Amino acid sequence: MMIRTILAAAALTLAPLAAQAAPLYVHAGKLVDTLQGKVLTDQLITIDGERVVAVAPWKTAPTDGRVIDWSRRMVLPGLIDMHTHLVDQEQTENVAEPLLTTAAYQAYIGAAHARVTLEAGFTSVRDVGTWRAFGDVALRDAINAGLVPGPRMSVAGAYITVPGGGGEITGVAGDVRLPDEMRAGVVEDAADAHRKAANILAHHADFLKLIATGAVLTVGTEPGQQELTEDEMRAAVEEAARRGTYATAHAHGAEGMKSAMRAGVRSIEHGSLMDDEAIAMMKARGVFLVADIYDGDWIDAYGKAHGWPAETLRKNYETTEAQREGFRKAVKAGVKIAYGTDAGVYPHGLNARQIKYMVRYGMTPMQAIQSATTVAAELMKKADVGAVAPGRYADLIAVDGDALADVSVLEHVGAVMKGGVVVRE
Ligand SMILES: [Zn+2]
Repeated sequence: MMIRTILAAAALTLAPLAAQAAPLYVHAGKLVDTLQGKVLTDQLITIDGERVVAVAPWKTAPTDGRVIDWSRRMVLPGLIDMHTHLVDQEQTENVAEPLLTTAAYQAYIGAAHARVTLEAGFTSVRDVGTWRAFGDVALRDAINAGLVPGPRMSVAGAYITVPGGGGEITGVAGDVRLPDEMRAGVVEDAADAHRKAANILAHHADFLKLIATGAVLTVGTEPGQQELTEDEMRAAVEEAARRGTYATAHAHGAEGMKSAMRAGVRSIEHGSLMDDEAIAMMKARGVFLVADIYDGDWIDAYGKAHGWPAETLRKNYETTEAQREGFRKAVKAGVKIAYGTDAGVYPHGLNARQIKYMVRYGMTPMQAIQSATTVAAELMKKADVGAVAPGRYADLIAVDGDALADVSVLEHVGAVMKGGVVVRE
């Protein structure tokens, strides 16, 4: 007993010493300052524990800690994807795919997707829905507990959708009864939306995901058609505000987008069929656009080759180029655009492929990088990611080549650090 007490006391006195371990340094040949929108040369990043404590010009090599030599590389903050689906199987031709695996097996799927996402340089994601409610909450918590490697996750918990809507599993026989955990966010009216939204947040979702319109990948729904009513969306937004968070709306059609904005959402996902009025509303209200302008090409090529439903391919065709033209107008209008790809529709780990599309459709390379760093952090209301700066997490990536001259180098990240720990070198 006595010995145990002495050991415990020793551990207590040692703990502060361990916290003051020698600092970790990164020598960055080039450093992208996403806050100022410029590139710094030959910088010394000082890291204490999981956070950056200083960024300064390199002078001489520090002698009191380990120095990671990225002096021939370009260093950026870890990238952020605001629209992923880590916990579900990647998209297939089978509408009943989510019914083929147990919740336990899906946890392993989620862990595998989380790892490849992190290794691709995405150190944070906003995960915007799972078919089985709260699998994303569990994955976020497992990553935070250090059980499995993965990005920092902000999660939706479940889809808030109308019966048979874009956030339901559709296309199965009419008398198939889906498990309750696949219908946690299915709402019948505004009062129901209040109840279900409160329940999702009570289960520790970080924000709410509203399915305002039909979806490309949910059979029997149409992207241009509004589904949730404005009152239902307003009910969910009120519940989110009560908990100090926000709601985002999946909305392809312009009327659904406008209705969601009037209801008070913070961001619009997809926005494929946006019109000038919807763009003006996003700009005036400071609503963020998260437009997945890469995956249409993937669906067209891979989906055609793998027998995806003709209806899906038709809806993809109707939304892909329209979305890109809308995106171009939104960039011109100065709408806040946060990087989001719908990873899961195409394979996880390829998240950076969209960056060159955003440059092709009107952004400067720096704007595209900021959309995946500072702008994404602002949308999530997180002040500790999105930049390499004192006080923020030491989430860094390093690339060989100049990401400002050719953003596609971000598709082949050379090294990844999350919270001061090197994930891949
Ligand atoms: Zn999605």
